[in-house]
Amino acid sequence: MPPIDIDETLATLTEERSALLHQLAELGADESGELTGDMDYGDAFADAGAATAERTETMGIIENLKIHLDGVDRAIARIADGTYGICTVCGKKIPEDRMRYRPTSSQCIDCKKTASI
Ligand SMILES: [Zn+2]
Repeated sequence: MPPIDIDETLATLTEERSALLHQLAELGADESGELTGDMDYGDAFADAGAATAERTETMGIIENLKIHLDGVDRAIARIADGTYGICTVCGKKIPEDRMRYRPTSSQCIDCKKTASI
């Protein structure tokens, strides 16, 4: 397999970033995950419970998008400072198939395992 093309990876991450921002905007949130305005949750007076549940669900989705966006941002930053593909814990090179599978990886499998125990 050819080595990872950093330019291509950066292009993919940049694309992913704008897709995530688009999804956040559609949910009424900005880049920081803050809601930017009043969302229309239907007739809140008729069914406040359902509106609250829907809002909670939306906040959960926004939270997940935000976590993903942070990962993409950090990967882009690591490409910029030349540390992309290097484990942030042990400083070893992360195997390329792992980077290919998950381009936002910041730790090698061993360190990730240790961290999640
Ligand atoms: Zn490591």
